[in-house]
Amino acid sequence: MSMNTQGRPTGIGIAPAGASTPAGAFASTSGSSLLPNEPLLFEIGDTEHSGVDLPDASIGDEFLGGFKRTTPLDLAGLTEPEALRHYVRLSRLNYSIDSGMYPLGSCTMKHNPRLNEKTARLPGFADIHPLQPVSTVPGALELMNELAHWLMTLTNTSAVALTPKAGAHGEMCGMMTIRAAQAARGQGRRNVVLVPDSAHGTNPATAAFLGYSVRSVPANAQGTVDVAAVKAALGPDVAAIMLTNPNTCGLFEPQIIEIAAAVHEAGAFFYCDGANFNAIMGVVRPGDLGIDAMHINLHKTFSTPHGGGGPGAGPVVLSEALAPFAPVPFVRKGDGPLALVEHSSDTHLGRITAFNGQMGMYVRALTYMLSHGGDGLAQAAKDAVLNANYVKARLTPTFSAPFGEGPCMHEALFDDHFLEGTGVSTLDFAKALIDEGFHPMTMYFPLVVHGAMLIEPTESEPRQTLDHFCDVMLDLAADARAGNAGRFTGAPTRAARRRLDETRAARSPKLKWERAESLPRAAE
Ligand SMILES: *Cc1c(COP(=O)(O)O)cnc(C)c1O
Repeated sequence: MSMNTQGRPTGIGIAPAGASTPAGAFASTSGSSLLPNEPLLFEIGDTEHSGVDLPDASIGDEFLGGFKRTTPLDLAGLTEPEALRHYVRLSRLNYSIDSGMYPLGSCTMKHNPRLNEKTARLPGFADIHPLQPVSTVPGALELMNELAHWLMTLTNTSAVALTPKAGAHGEMCGMMTIRAAQAARGQGRRNVVLVPDSAHGTNPATAAFLGYSVRSVPANAQGTVDVAAVKAALGPDVAAIMLTNPNTCGLFEPQIIEIAAAVHEAGAFFYCDGANFNAIMGVVRPGDLGIDAMHINLHKTFSTPHGGGGPGAGPVVLSEALAPFAPVPFVRKGDGPLALVEHSSDTHLGRITAFNGQMGMYVRALTYMLSHGGDGLAQAAKDAVLNANYVKARLTPTFSAPFGEGPCMHEALFDDHFLEGTGVSTLDFAKALIDEGFHPMTMYFPLVVHGAMLIEPTESEPRQTLDHFCDVMLDLAADARAGNAGRFTGAPTRAARRRLDETRAARSPKLKWERAESLPRAAE
C-alpha cells in the first residue's frame, strides 16, 4: 500500500486493523443489480487517516485570533477513489429521468436537454457574481429580458416577476401583488381566497400563509369547477380565486372564461396555478382566458432539472392591473441599455429573494425556448397531451377513470375502483411498479379522487416506452385481480430500500451524523 509523506496510506483499503469500518459495511448487496449497500462516508473512513497530503501547518494560534480548533475535525479521511466510488455507487442506487420513465403526475418530469446544460455552463453566465457592477453583465440582463419576453408572449400578459424560486414561491409572490393591488384600491379588508377542492396543497397553504382564510369550491361530477359554484362562493370579502388550469384531474376547465368574468365582477382577482402549463404552452394564452397572475414552473414546463436535482424557478406573469406591484428587481427596457431596477419608490413590492433569482435556470429555460421555437413548444404540448391520452386509452377500461373514459389533457387520472376487493391498495400498486423498473405515478392526489393514481408521461417518452409501461400496468392489474396480493403488499423487493417510514423521515429527519453507536437507525 502506498503512503504519503505523512506516512498515511493513499490507496483503497486504508482502514488498518481495528479501524472503524463497521462490520458488514460492504458485505451485503441490495436489489437485483448486486450493488453494495452503501455506508455513509463517515462509516467508510475514519478521522485518523487522510488521502490528502498536506504539510503540518506552521501558523501559530496567535495568527488565528484564538480560533484555532482544539477538537478533532471529525471528517472521514478518504482517498479520492474511495470518495469517488462512494458517490458513484450512490448515484447507481438512484432512479432519475436519465435512467427511466418518471410518470409522476403534476410534476412534468420531462427530459432535461443537454444543450441547456451547455449554455448554463458558459462562463459569461456561470461565472458572474450578483454583486458585480450591473454595467459588466449586459448579457445577463439581455437574457432575463428575453426570457421575460417569451413568458409574457406565451401567456399574453403585461409583466413578469422572474425571481420566485419555485411554484409555491411564485404563488406567494402573485398573491402578494394581489394583496398590494387591493390595498391600493382601499380594498385591503378582502380576506378570503377561493380554492377548488381539487387544488394542489400549495394553493391553500399560500393563501393561509399570507393570512387569508380559505373557502373551498367543490368540483362537479366531471372533475371541473362550475361557474355557478364559484358565484355561490364569491362575495365582497373575497380577494381572489386560485384555480389550476388544466386542473389537477388532468382536465381543461371549460368554464374558465365565465369564471374569470364572475371573479372580476365581484372585484376579486384570478390567480391561476400554471404548474400544468406544459399541456397548453404555445396553444392557449392564459391572459386570453382572463387570468391576472400565474406562476410558471420553469423546472416543469421548460425542462430545467428538478426533484432533488433542482433548484427550480417559478416566475409569475402578471396582468396590467397587477404589473405595477411586481417585486424588485426587474429588468427595464428603455431607449438606452437595459436597466436593472433594484429599488423603487413606486408601488412595487420589495425583494422576495436575495439578488436576482435562479440565473442558471433562466439560461436553461431560455435555451429550451429558443431551441424549440414557438412552434416547437406548441408541438411539445400537443405531444404531451397525445402521450397522456395514449396511456389513458390503453389502460381503460381495466383501470377505472373517475371522470369518464373521454380524453384528458397532459395527465391521465385513475381511481382505485379496479382494486376493490383485491386487498391491494394504491400504495401497494405503486410499490410493485418499482419492482418492474418504473418510478411510480403520483398517488393519492388529487384528494377528490379515491386512491388516485395520476400519470403524466410528458412528451419525452417514445411509443415503445409508453407501451412497455402500459403492458406492465395491465399485467399488474391482472395479477392484483387474480388474487396475487403478495406481489404488491411486499413490494418493492428489488429496490435498495423497501418501505420507508416516510412520515417519520419527514417529521424527524436525521440531518447530522453522530458518532454514538447506539443511536436508532434511520427510518426503514
Ligand atoms: C408542482 C406544483 C406546484 C408547486 O410548484 P413547486 O415548484 O413544487 O413549488 C403547485 N401547483 C401544482 C398544480 C403543481 O403541480
